[in-house]
Amino acid sequence: MIVIVNTLIKSLTNHGANIIKIIDISELSEAENSGYDKAILIGLTLSPTYLFQLTHENDNVIDSSEFGEKEHQADELAEWAADFICSNGYKAFAQSERNLINGYFNNDTKATLLPHKKIAIMAGLGWIGKNNLLVTKEYGCAVCMCTVLTNAPFPTENKPIIMPRCKTCCVCKNICPSQVIHGTTWEPGINRDTMVDVYHCEGCLKCLVFCPLTQQYMKRNVVK
Ligand code: SF4
Ligand code: SF4
Repeated sequence: MIVIVNTLIKSLTNHGANIIKIIDISELSEAENSGYDKAILIGLTLSPTYLFQLTHENDNVIDSSEFGEKEHQADELAEWAADFICSNGYKAFAQSERNLINGYFNNDTKATLLPHKKIAIMAGLGWIGKNNLLVTKEYGCAVCMCTVLTNAPFPTENKPIIMPRCKTCCVCKNICPSQVIHGTTWEPGINRDTMVDVYHCEGCLKCLVFCPLTQQYMKRNVVK
């Protein structure tokens, strides 16, 4: 088994994954885990240079190029990982955008049965910010993610959930041009709609880019 895990991790890393976490999801309800007991989170970080461009771009321009590419790349890696696991005799399902259309994504509520974010916080990667995004200490919100559900007996590394560390910060709420971020602090079981009106979000990425933790990551790494 360890050979399969190591091959999987090495291949994902070689193809651009910056974060790979395997966690136990057997304690979740079947409505969430769909009968799988493990989840693999695959994360790709946005480049500091791209974040720098977004920070300084004209207010009317939305450049989602790298964001879109990395989201797509995370999906492709998840689909590849699921195929690899299946070829080794186990069940696996990639929660890619293409696959989620088939009953895993509710278009009315714009919600999935088991969001990547939930898997990320079970892995201890960060917390859910007031912008309803994953916030990590190392990369801020600059992580594109996809996940794979599986029954392969891989070793897992669950961590305690980190409660939000946004404190009194309201940068994302104040910068949102659509005013859809309400400034509510996340807690387990919270109704997402009390945090963000996702139906009127215009996808400008400002709440991601201007989060102080994203800015710290950018400033630490941007090539001057
Ligand atoms: S992406 Fe833009 S519009 Fe959507 S919540 Fe973030 S700041 Fe607001
Ligand atoms: S901008 Fe501030 S309030 Fe919003 S997610 Fe980041 S730290 Fe939290």
